[in-house]
Amino acid sequence: MHRTVYDEDHESFRQTLRAFIDAEVVPHYDEWFQAGIVPRELYTKLAELGIFGIEVPEEYGGAGIESHKFTAIQYEETARAGVTFGGSGVHVLLALPYIKMLATEEQKQRYLPNFVSAEEMWALAMTEPGAGSDLAGMRTTAKRDGDHYVLNGAKTFITGGVLADRVIVCARTSPPRDDDRRFGISLFAVDAHSDGYTVGRKLDKLGLRTSDTAELSFEDVRVPVEDLLGEENQGFSYLGRNLPSERWGIAHGAYAQAEAAVRFAKDYVQQRTIFGKTVASFQNTKFELAACKAEVDAAQAVADRALEALDAGELTPAEAASAKVFCTEVAHRVIDRCLQLHGGYGFINEYPIARLYADNRVNRIYGGTTEVMKTIIAKDMGL
Ligand SMILES: Cc1cc2nc3c(=O)[nH]c(=O)nc-3n(C[C@H](O)[C@H](O)[C@H](O)COP(=O)(O)OP(=O)(O)OC[C@H]3O[C@@H](n4cnc5c(N)ncnc54)[C@H](O)[C@@H]3O)c2cc1C
Repeated sequence: MHRTVYDEDHESFRQTLRAFIDAEVVPHYDEWFQAGIVPRELYTKLAELGIFGIEVPEEYGGAGIESHKFTAIQYEETARAGVTFGGSGVHVLLALPYIKMLATEEQKQRYLPNFVSAEEMWALAMTEPGAGSDLAGMRTTAKRDGDHYVLNGAKTFITGGVLADRVIVCARTSPPRDDDRRFGISLFAVDAHSDGYTVGRKLDKLGLRTSDTAELSFEDVRVPVEDLLGEENQGFSYLGRNLPSERWGIAHGAYAQAEAAVRFAKDYVQQRTIFGKTVASFQNTKFELAACKAEVDAAQAVADRALEALDAGELTPAEAASAKVFCTEVAHRVIDRCLQLHGGYGFINEYPIARLYADNRVNRIYGGTTEVMKTIIAKDMGL
């Protein structure tokens, strides 16, 4: 079936990105993998390539493209090469929509040029040790004190948290209402170099090892009122509006990983010889890969359709949840079956399938777990 989401500009961007990954990422990736972080210099190079400015309006130094298709291609090309760009995915996919939606003109002028040039890398801090799926239970507070808010609390699992310069922190500015637990949360663009702002442990993860996932803590951090994003107490509704794009991103990334897994497995089984013949020659191998291919085709169709709907401003929370569940569950099954075809080598990190297996696992957890996605879909069904 002919794929219709991309045009010539997208394909030319794909070639540029592929060449960049081959030259600037693949040769160093093992070293970054062992270090558990990418060098900051990678972000500067990505900025020079124009990656961070694609969706930023031209007046702030970007290309002004209102589409997630270039981001989709980044997922496809990094998966294809068996690499990631560290924690920088959150810079554009998670943080930028909030800046575009909520920042005042003065804030956009202050934030966006440095965003595009990677002088300021951004992250998004919602999750707390006691508040993951149940975000309304967050305990970080921001109390108004003159022309500042005073921030106290802690966040965990923050992607990009080590290298971030500015973090969108969700905090309680008012207690919840009896009839609405979600009321009272506000968003702040917090300068990560402020006094009292501490980057805690870089978490030692099963996968996504080059992405710096950190704990953050805030002790009397003074945040100027000029860094409040949107209206006070309305943060939860902003989260609700932006989570569909994050969930589409995870869905698309998972589909791309599944597709890459099939390619890795196909290449492997064609060159691996046992019992005097290639692993590819066994009927089981052909059937396994054929079944995986069929699942990947279906996931691609779902991810592409969600992408078109997102670009059109029509992707509903339930549709995004549905795409996330489907694509991440497909990826989970497909990558596991492709790893199996590698035998013991599939368990060795030197082989990209092993890293893909570990990297993919979190797709069913972050951005909202599969179970939470199902509650959103069921509610939309009137259940
Ligand atoms: C590598 C990584 C990167 C992350 N990056 C970020 C980030 O950049 N910023 C950020 O803010 N957060 C981030 N997160 C946090 C992530 O979004 C949360 O881990 C996720 O939302 C789940 O929350 P939790 O871990 O507290 O699990 P819990 O909420 O404790 O869930 C535990 C279990 O309970 C189940 N459960 C929860 N609610 C229900 C329900 N209603 N019905 C049935 N079962 C339910 C869950 O599905 C899960 O199986 C990241 C997490 C990881 C692991």
